[in-house]
Amino acid sequence: MKNIMIVATGGTIAGVGEIGKSASYQAGEINIDEIIQSIPAINHIAHLSAVQYMNVDSNEMSPARWVQLANYLNELLVREDIDGIVVTHGTDTLDETAYFLNLTLRTYKPVIITGAMRPATAASADGPMNLYQAVALACHEEALGHGVMAVFSDTIYSGRDIQKVNNFKTDAFDKKDFGCLGYMRDDQAYFFARAFKKHTLQSEFSQQPLTSLPKVGIAYYYAGAGSEVLETLAKDCKGIVIAGSGSGNYSKEWIEKVGALSKKGIIIVRSSRVGHGIVFESPVFDEEKQTVPSNTLSPQKARVLLMLALSVTKETEKIREIFNVY
Ligand code: ASP
Repeated sequence: MKNIMIVATGGTIAGVGEIGKSASYQAGEINIDEIIQSIPAINHIAHLSAVQYMNVDSNEMSPARWVQLANYLNELLVREDIDGIVVTHGTDTLDETAYFLNLTLRTYKPVIITGAMRPATAASADGPMNLYQAVALACHEEALGHGVMAVFSDTIYSGRDIQKVNNFKTDAFDKKDFGCLGYMRDDQAYFFARAFKKHTLQSEFSQQPLTSLPKVGIAYYYAGAGSEVLETLAKDCKGIVIAGSGSGNYSKEWIEKVGALSKKGIIIVRSSRVGHGIVFESPVFDEEKQTVPSNTLSPQKARVLLMLALSVTKETEKIREIFNVY
């Protein structure tokens, strides 16, 4: 059996509420050992060790915590007595953490992130099965080299593309137009696709330990939105991601403000508030190519990549290339 380390960070999988109910609870309460004890079969598939790294609602995650977590996981991943890692995490920001780790972990070993939509005290809590399947996937030979993956509701997702798409049901994640990497059936994994974009060992952001990340904010565009939000963000951010309408679009007022801020050296990424599709260069909204299109990344994932990109370069053209590669 493989040696799998569970690194617990909290979330609903460790949540506690009224016995049997799912509607109201506090995330990040139960210790990982208690969750493991509730799944006796898990000890038949792996030699497990577990650490309660933190126990928070995932809305308490932050760039500083991502950096600490990535450095900690990188230390664990070089150990010969660890074959793979499962990270338990709240679902609200799981997509951001998964993408961050996908870009910053220096390993070919499987790293699987999972969580739950129902607290541990709910009738038919989904956390135990998700954790069981995440451990099973971490043991699987075919799980090597896919980058960070997530397991949720019998489905395997890539850390790059996973997206929370439902804030209520247990089948809360999706991979947008790209489908999933595969399925889990009990402890068996079935792969049908590979992660295509660069990650983990091939990522330039995994090559040395991280210390801190430059500040990047997100500006949400809506009909009639004033451009002051861009001005405000520019006061202390090195980069801004715009969650634009349609293909990463916005008004003439924003076009003007974006142009002015770009000239001052703020890097601006155009992403879309629409869940599906791709953002390309736009001769209409950005005639002078001052912004960087986010490709298929959601605004929050574009922010993750822009923070990492800004930690290695301040050049728009290099950042444009980074957004094509990752
Ligand atoms: N608020 C919770 C969290 O993200 C939600 C969850 O885990 O499902 O920690």
